[in-house]
Amino acid sequence: MKPLIIANWKMNLNLEKSFAMMEYLEKSSYENFMIAISAPYLAYFAKSFYKIKFCAQDVSTVEGYGAYTGEMSADLIKSCKISHSIVGHSERRQLMRDSNMVVQKKADNCIKAGIEPIICVGENLEFRRDGNYKEFIFQQINESIPRSADSFIVAYEPVWSIGTGIVPTTEELSEMFYLIKHHPKLIRVAKNIQLVYGGSVNSSNCKHLLSIENIDGLLVGSASLSKKELDLILS
Ligand code: PEP
Repeated sequence: MKPLIIANWKMNLNLEKSFAMMEYLEKSSYENFMIAISAPYLAYFAKSFYKIKFCAQDVSTVEGYGAYTGEMSADLIKSCKISHSIVGHSERRQLMRDSNMVVQKKADNCIKAGIEPIICVGENLEFRRDGNYKEFIFQQINESIPRSADSFIVAYEPVWSIGTGIVPTTEELSEMFYLIKHHPKLIRVAKNIQLVYGGSVNSSNCKHLLSIENIDGLLVGSASLSKKELDLILS
C-alpha cells in the first residue's frame, strides 16, 4: 500500500484555481491521497470529483444541527460525503486558542459523526530547545485524542518546522515517531492508528521522510499548492 499523503491547502486558492487543480488531479487518480480544502468547497467538490478524497480542515465543538451561526458540525460535514477532518492544527491552536480539551471534543464529535479525525500535535521551538518536548507531546496526545475510536490519524507537526523550511533531523524524527507509535494511551484507545509527519515536506525530502521507521504518511502544506511539487510527492 502506498503511504498516505494528506495535502492541506489551508485558506489558499480561490474557487477557480482550486477547481482547475482538481480537474488535473482527478485525471492522475493517485492512491491513498486526500486534500483538506476550504469549507465552502467541500460538498461541491465531493460531488464533482469522484476519484479524489476530500478532507475538512476543522469541525465545531458543537454536535449535530441547530442555532449556531457560523459553526460547522462534524455531522454537517459528514452529510457532504466527507470522510476525514483535521483537528487541532497548530494554526488553530495558536490563532483560535484551541486547547487540548477543545481538540478532544472536536475529535469525539468526528468519531460520533463517522468522520476519521486527523489529530495534529507538535511542540514549539521553546519546548524543543529546553528539552521538554516529549512531555509536551505526551500531554497533547493524552488530552487531545478521542475517548474511544476504531481508528484515527495522528499528525506529528513540530511547530518550528511548519512553513519554515526546517525539517527535524532523522534522529529527532525517529525518536518521536517511535514514541508516538508506541504511546500506551494511543494503543489502548484505538485499534488502528496511522502516524503522519508534517512540516516543510517537499519533493526533495519526501522519500527520505517516508523511509524513516514507524511513519505511515505525510501531511503537506505549502508544497501541495504546486502541481509540479504535488505530482513529484505523489508519484
Ligand atoms: C501544515 O501547515 O500542516 C504544514 C505541514 O505546512 P508546511 O508543509 O507548509 O510546512
